[in-house]
Amino acid sequence: MPSVARERFRTHCAHCMTTGSAEAKGTYRVPHPVEPTIRYVLCECPNCHEPILLSMMEVGEDLFEGTVLSAPQVLYPAREEGDPSWPTRVGKRFAEADVCLRVGAFNAAAVMCRRTMEQVCLELGVTEKTLIKSLEELKKRGLLDERLVQWAHGLRAVGNVGAHAGSEDVSAQDAQDVVEFARALIDYVFTYQQRFAAFQARHSQASATPSDANASGDDARAGSKVDA
Ligand SMILES: [Zn+2]
Repeated sequence: MPSVARERFRTHCAHCMTTGSAEAKGTYRVPHPVEPTIRYVLCECPNCHEPILLSMMEVGEDLFEGTVLSAPQVLYPAREEGDPSWPTRVGKRFAEADVCLRVGAFNAAAVMCRRTMEQVCLELGVTEKTLIKSLEELKKRGLLDERLVQWAHGLRAVGNVGAHAGSEDVSAQDAQDVVEFARALIDYVFTYQQRFAAFQARHSQASATPSDANASGDDARAGSKVDA
Protein backbone atom coordinates (compact mmCIF):
# COMPACT_ATOMS: atom_id res chain seq x y z
CA MET A 1 0.00 0.00 0.00
CA PRO A 2 2.33 2.80 -1.12
CA SER A 3 -0.32 5.54 -0.73
CA VAL A 4 -0.63 4.90 3.01
CA ALA A 5 2.96 5.96 3.70
CA ARG A 6 2.14 9.49 2.50
CA GLU A 7 -1.08 9.87 4.45
CA ARG A 8 -1.28 12.58 7.07
CA PHE A 9 -3.48 12.83 10.13
CA ARG A 10 -4.28 16.00 12.02
CA THR A 11 -3.59 15.18 15.63
CA HIS A 12 -2.36 16.66 18.88
CA CYS A 13 1.09 15.64 20.09
CA ALA A 14 1.25 15.09 23.86
CA HIS A 15 5.06 15.04 23.69
CA CYS A 16 5.42 18.67 22.63
CA MET A 17 1.84 19.94 23.15
CA THR A 18 1.33 21.11 19.58
CA THR A 19 -1.33 20.18 17.04
CA GLY A 20 -0.24 19.40 13.52
CA SER A 21 -0.44 17.18 10.49
CA ALA A 22 1.47 14.02 11.41
CA GLU A 23 2.85 11.90 8.61
CA ALA A 24 2.01 8.20 8.64
CA LYS A 25 5.11 6.02 8.72
CA GLY A 26 3.43 2.64 8.78
CA THR A 27 0.01 1.02 8.96
CA TYR A 28 -1.30 -2.24 10.35
CA ARG A 29 -4.88 -3.34 9.60
CA VAL A 30 -6.89 -5.81 11.67
CA PRO A 31 -9.90 -7.03 9.64
CA HIS A 32 -12.94 -8.39 11.46
CA PRO A 33 -15.76 -10.48 9.92
CA VAL A 34 -18.56 -8.35 11.39
CA GLU A 35 -17.08 -5.24 13.01
CA PRO A 36 -15.28 -2.54 10.98
CA THR A 37 -11.60 -3.11 10.23
CA ILE A 38 -9.33 -1.38 12.74
CA ARG A 39 -6.40 0.54 11.31
CA TYR A 40 -3.34 1.32 13.45
CA VAL A 41 -1.14 4.06 12.08
CA LEU A 42 2.27 4.99 13.43
CA CYS A 43 2.91 8.68 12.74
CA GLU A 44 5.71 11.16 13.24
CA CYS A 45 4.99 14.48 14.97
CA PRO A 46 5.91 17.24 12.48
CA ASN A 47 7.18 19.43 15.33
CA CYS A 48 9.19 17.22 17.72
CA HIS A 49 9.49 14.07 15.52
CA GLU A 50 8.41 11.80 18.38
CA PRO A 51 6.16 8.83 17.46
CA ILE A 52 2.38 8.95 17.85
CA LEU A 53 0.31 5.77 17.46
CA LEU A 54 -3.25 6.28 16.23
CA SER A 55 -6.10 3.83 15.83
CA MET A 56 -9.17 4.35 13.69
CA MET A 57 -11.99 2.34 12.16
CA GLU A 58 -12.63 1.90 8.44
CA VAL A 59 -16.28 2.90 8.50
CA GLY A 60 -17.12 2.92 4.77
CA GLU A 61 -16.08 3.51 1.18
CA ASP A 62 -16.44 6.77 -0.73
CA LEU A 63 -16.28 6.85 -4.53
CA PHE A 64 -13.92 9.85 -4.54
CA GLU A 65 -12.21 9.78 -1.17
CA GLY A 66 -11.65 6.02 -0.89
CA THR A 67 -11.87 4.45 2.56
CA VAL A 68 -13.75 6.57 5.11
CA LEU A 69 -12.05 6.52 8.51
CA SER A 70 -13.42 7.33 11.95
CA ALA A 71 -11.77 10.09 14.01
CA PRO A 72 -8.32 8.86 15.12
CA GLN A 73 -7.75 7.91 18.74
CA VAL A 74 -4.30 8.44 20.22
CA LEU A 75 -2.99 5.16 21.73
CA TYR A 76 0.54 6.42 22.35
CA PRO A 77 1.57 8.46 24.28
CA ALA A 78 -0.74 6.55 26.64
CA ARG A 79 -3.61 8.24 28.39
CA GLU A 80 -3.38 8.84 32.13
CA GLU A 81 -5.83 6.69 34.09
CA GLY A 82 -4.71 7.56 37.58
CA ASP A 83 -3.67 5.22 40.36
CA PRO A 84 -6.02 2.45 41.62
CA SER A 85 -5.78 3.97 45.11
CA TRP A 86 -7.56 7.12 43.90
CA PRO A 87 -11.32 7.35 44.49
CA THR A 88 -13.15 6.39 41.26
CA ARG A 89 -14.72 9.80 40.72
CA VAL A 90 -11.45 11.62 41.27
CA GLY A 91 -9.78 9.29 38.72
CA LYS A 92 -12.54 9.94 36.20
CA ARG A 93 -12.36 13.72 36.51
CA PHE A 94 -8.59 13.62 36.24
CA ALA A 95 -8.67 11.29 33.20
CA GLU A 96 -10.98 13.80 31.49
CA ALA A 97 -8.56 16.63 32.25
CA ASP A 98 -5.76 14.55 30.78
CA VAL A 99 -7.74 13.72 27.61
CA CYS A 100 -8.48 17.45 27.13
CA LEU A 101 -4.77 18.20 27.48
CA ARG A 102 -3.83 15.51 24.96
CA VAL A 103 -6.18 16.82 22.27
CA GLY A 104 -5.04 20.41 22.80
CA ALA A 105 -8.23 21.60 24.55
CA PHE A 106 -6.29 23.60 27.13
CA ASN A 107 -9.19 25.68 28.56
CA ALA A 108 -11.19 22.48 29.07
CA ALA A 109 -8.19 20.75 30.68
CA ALA A 110 -7.88 23.59 33.22
CA VAL A 111 -11.61 23.51 33.96
CA MET A 112 -11.47 19.74 34.50
CA CYS A 113 -8.52 20.14 36.88
CA ARG A 114 -10.62 22.58 38.89
CA ARG A 115 -13.50 20.07 38.94
CA THR A 116 -11.04 17.37 39.98
CA MET A 117 -10.07 19.52 42.97
CA GLU A 118 -13.75 19.97 43.87
CA GLN A 119 -14.11 16.17 43.78
CA VAL A 120 -11.04 15.75 46.00
CA CYS A 121 -12.69 18.05 48.60
CA LEU A 122 -15.94 16.06 48.41
CA GLU A 123 -14.12 12.75 48.86
CA LEU A 124 -12.44 14.16 51.96
CA GLY A 125 -15.81 15.19 53.37
CA VAL A 126 -15.35 18.94 52.85
CA THR A 127 -18.37 20.61 51.25
CA GLU A 128 -18.00 24.35 51.63
CA LYS A 129 -19.93 26.59 49.22
CA THR A 130 -16.87 27.61 47.23
CA LEU A 131 -13.68 25.81 46.30
CA ILE A 132 -11.63 28.57 47.93
CA LYS A 133 -13.37 27.92 51.29
CA SER A 134 -13.10 24.14 50.89
CA LEU A 135 -9.35 24.44 50.36
CA GLU A 136 -8.97 26.53 53.52
CA GLU A 137 -11.00 23.92 55.40
CA LEU A 138 -8.70 21.13 54.11
CA LYS A 139 -5.76 23.12 55.45
CA LYS A 140 -7.48 23.69 58.84
CA ARG A 141 -8.15 19.98 59.21
CA GLY A 142 -4.55 19.17 58.37
CA LEU A 143 -5.47 17.21 55.23
CA LEU A 144 -3.41 19.49 53.00
CA ASP A 145 -0.32 21.35 54.05
CA GLU A 146 0.38 24.97 53.19
CA ARG A 147 2.33 24.34 49.99
CA LEU A 148 -0.27 21.98 48.52
CA VAL A 149 -3.00 24.48 49.35
CA GLN A 150 -1.02 27.00 47.28
CA TRP A 151 -0.89 24.53 44.36
CA ALA A 152 -4.62 23.92 44.69
CA HIS A 153 -5.28 27.67 44.59
CA GLY A 154 -3.15 27.81 41.44
CA LEU A 155 -5.29 25.09 39.83
CA ARG A 156 -8.41 26.94 40.87
CA ALA A 157 -7.21 30.23 39.35
CA VAL A 158 -6.20 28.68 35.99
CA GLY A 159 -9.50 26.74 35.97
CA ASN A 160 -11.33 30.04 36.34
CA VAL A 161 -9.48 31.47 33.33
CA GLY A 162 -10.51 28.41 31.29
CA ALA A 163 -14.13 28.65 32.37
CA HIS A 164 -14.91 32.28 31.64
CA ALA A 165 -15.66 33.85 28.28
CA GLY A 166 -13.78 37.06 27.63
CA SER A 167 -10.75 36.11 29.69
CA GLU A 168 -7.50 34.97 28.11
CA ASP A 169 -7.06 31.41 26.87
CA VAL A 170 -5.17 28.96 29.04
CA SER A 171 -1.74 28.34 27.48
CA ALA A 172 -0.41 24.88 26.63
CA GLN A 173 2.25 25.23 29.32
CA ASP A 174 -0.25 26.28 32.00
CA ALA A 175 -2.59 23.43 31.05
CA GLN A 176 0.27 20.92 31.24
CA ASP A 177 1.37 22.34 34.60
CA VAL A 178 -2.06 22.25 36.21
CA VAL A 179 -2.61 18.64 35.08
CA GLU A 180 0.74 17.68 36.63
CA PHE A 181 0.03 19.61 39.85
CA ALA A 182 -3.38 17.94 40.07
CA ARG A 183 -1.78 14.49 39.68
CA ALA A 184 0.82 15.22 42.36
CA LEU A 185 -1.79 16.59 44.73
CA ILE A 186 -4.11 13.58 44.31
CA ASP A 187 -1.16 11.22 44.79
CA TYR A 188 -0.21 13.04 47.96
CA VAL A 189 -3.72 12.91 49.41
CA PHE A 190 -4.85 9.44 48.32
CA THR A 191 -1.73 7.40 47.59
CA TYR A 192 1.28 8.51 49.61
CA GLN A 193 -0.50 9.39 52.85
CA GLN A 194 -2.04 5.90 52.90
CA ARG A 195 1.24 4.25 51.98
CA PHE A 196 3.08 6.19 54.66
CA ALA A 197 0.44 5.25 57.26
CA ALA A 198 0.87 1.56 56.26
CA PHE A 199 4.67 1.98 56.41
CA GLN A 200 4.44 3.49 59.90
CA ALA A 201 2.09 0.72 61.05
CA ARG A 202 4.54 -1.94 59.83
CA HIS A 203 7.44 -0.30 61.61
CA SER A 204 5.61 0.32 64.88
CA GLN A 205 4.63 -3.39 64.85
CA ALA A 206 8.21 -4.41 64.15
CA SER A 207 9.55 -2.24 66.99
CA ALA A 208 6.73 -3.38 69.34
CA THR A 209 7.58 -7.09 68.96
CA PRO A 210 11.02 -7.14 70.67
CA SER A 211 9.91 -4.93 73.58
CA ASP A 212 6.88 -7.22 74.12
CA ALA A 213 9.25 -10.16 74.27
CA ASN A 214 11.49 -8.23 76.66
CA ALA A 215 8.58 -7.27 78.90
CA SER A 216 8.07 -10.92 79.76
CA GLY A 217 11.74 -11.83 79.82
CA ASP A 218 15.19 -10.50 80.49
CA ASP A 219 15.12 -6.92 81.94
CA ALA A 220 18.82 -6.35 81.36
CA ARG A 221 18.49 -7.15 77.67
CA ALA A 222 15.46 -4.88 77.39
CA GLY A 223 17.55 -2.06 78.85
CA SER A 224 20.39 -2.58 76.42
CA LYS A 225 17.92 -2.59 73.49
CA VAL A 226 16.41 0.74 74.52
CA ASP A 227 19.88 2.28 74.80
CA ALA A 228 20.80 1.04 71.31
ZN1 LIG B 1 5.41 16.61 19.05
